[in-house]
Amino acid sequence: MITVKNLKKQFGSNVVLDGINLEVKEGEVLAIIGPSGSGKSTLLRCLNLLEKPDAGELIIGDKKINVKKMSSKETYQLRQQTAMVFQHYNLFKNKTALENVTEALIIAKKMKKPEAEKIAMEILNQVGLGDKVHQYPVTLSGGQQQRVGIARALAVNPYAILFDEPTSALDPEWISEVLQVIKKIAEQNSTMIIVTHEMQFAEEVADRVIFMADGNIIEENTPKEFFHNPQSPRTKQFLRRLG
Ligand code: ADP
Ligand code: MG
Repeated sequence: MITVKNLKKQFGSNVVLDGINLEVKEGEVLAIIGPSGSGKSTLLRCLNLLEKPDAGELIIGDKKINVKKMSSKETYQLRQQTAMVFQHYNLFKNKTALENVTEALIIAKKMKKPEAEKIAMEILNQVGLGDKVHQYPVTLSGGQQQRVGIARALAVNPYAILFDEPTSALDPEWISEVLQVIKKIAEQNSTMIIVTHEMQFAEEVADRVIFMADGNIIEENTPKEFFHNPQSPRTKQFLRRLG
């Protein structure tokens, strides 16, 4: 389980996370939606400790920390529990698809190259890139690059995968192939948190949806209730604008 208790983060005087409380069960898919600037990326980055929270407690799987007094060992261990998929893929441009995936295994999992390559090949196959493994990112479409990003996250077999708007940098023609891959992963009982603007996708894939605004969780519900019977005025307004 993932438990977030009273998580706080501010940049200067800008309070971005104002005491977030959140639970995600093992195998659950949580979708986070909300307006731009509401702190969605910061929340994911705090879960992965790419951003250091100011206060709060994080429990991810069997690792638990109080962010105010965490050792570098605890930081490292908690970071290993999750893998991020970024909006802009964040691939190494000078490495092939295969090398982008093996890198994570060799560095984070201390694997030997042959073993790392075996696993990376399997996972690149899974995301439909078996015939592209030796290509460099620049020779791949946006959709293919993002599938490499997803393969890299899957490869390290994290407790949870954090997706930060995985399709919002893609040309429309590549969106559905990436969503299909994410959907397939969701069906394998993975624990996932997905920040997305793809409402139909969120409704289909998520077990639960939360709406964030101004550093708080404003509303939380099943997808069906959330999209068809929103409660708070902020959520209603947000969904109406999209609609
Ligand atoms: P969202 O992902 O919901 O669009 P973000 O988490 O990216 O929102 O940003 C929330 C707020 O935090 C914004 O006001 C943004 O400008 C600010 N912010 C994010 N990262 C930084 C940073 N590294 N330094 C200063 N301000 C930041
Ligand atoms: Mg964001």
